[in-house]
Amino acid sequence: MFWFDLQPNGETEFITIYILVDKKITLIETGPACSHDNLIDGINKAGIALSDIDFIVPTHIHLDHFGGGGHLMRACENAKAVVHPNAVHHVSNVDKWWLGSLDFLGEVAELYGEPLPISESRIVSAADGFELDLGNTKLRSLHTPGHAPHHITWVNGRSAFVGDSLGLWYPEIDKSFPVTPGYYRHDLALDSIDSMSKLNLEEIFYTHFGPRHATGVFQETLNEFQIWMSIVEDGFNKNLNSEEILDILFLAQDGLKLTDIKHGIHQRNTHLGSIEGMMGWIKRENEKK
Ligand SMILES: [Zn+2]
Repeated sequence: MFWFDLQPNGETEFITIYILVDKKITLIETGPACSHDNLIDGINKAGIALSDIDFIVPTHIHLDHFGGGGHLMRACENAKAVVHPNAVHHVSNVDKWWLGSLDFLGEVAELYGEPLPISESRIVSAADGFELDLGNTKLRSLHTPGHAPHHITWVNGRSAFVGDSLGLWYPEIDKSFPVTPGYYRHDLALDSIDSMSKLNLEEIFYTHFGPRHATGVFQETLNEFQIWMSIVEDGFNKNLNSEEILDILFLAQDGLKLTDIKHGIHQRNTHLGSIEGMMGWIKRENEKK
């Protein structure tokens, strides 16, 4: 297996691209449209011809993961794209996907760039439990909703490509933190962490960012998600806004402030988005009562 730092718009240690080499060659994630040239460079440096790529497999279709999917599919004439059943329509008819992204991400969507459509004949729909035969190994789809409803964790032996379902991993500070934007479903996210914890994994491959040994990760991740939710809920009940809640999290969660210092405004907006996603969840739960 190969992996490389995609560096979209020069942002380092943000997006990891993985290439699985078996009898079939599989790319996990493409990154956004704006980093298409970097993606091609990275694939070339791994010594792989674009025409030899068989499968292009995102964990989900947020723009930072698959915004460049259509661009890459045009360059890889023999590849199939393998996506969640609920994402098939969006990647073949990109208008709603792009408008939704603009609405949700604003100028960040513009920075990532507009996706290109993929013809439905080149899309494979991956139900939960779906297996892709790669030759000596298989790549199995485990639906892991929470971060996004169409999120898939891809399991390859005792390794898994977890996308954003376990949050963001910062190898340099040995910490991971939740990423829970938009219409975040806390119940499903915790269920997804639980089902991943049962896979007896050795190694976890994050999109943001890089590989991590699986020992202890699931319990730690569960704790972190629950602590964040209880801090956000406490702030929400005191009518604090997301900025104020983030300041509390910075004090409470070891290392979190460092991610803000290192990655700046982009990171801050991501954390604010996670807090707002959790606040949205709390609001919807309260409305049910
Ligand atoms: Zn992401």
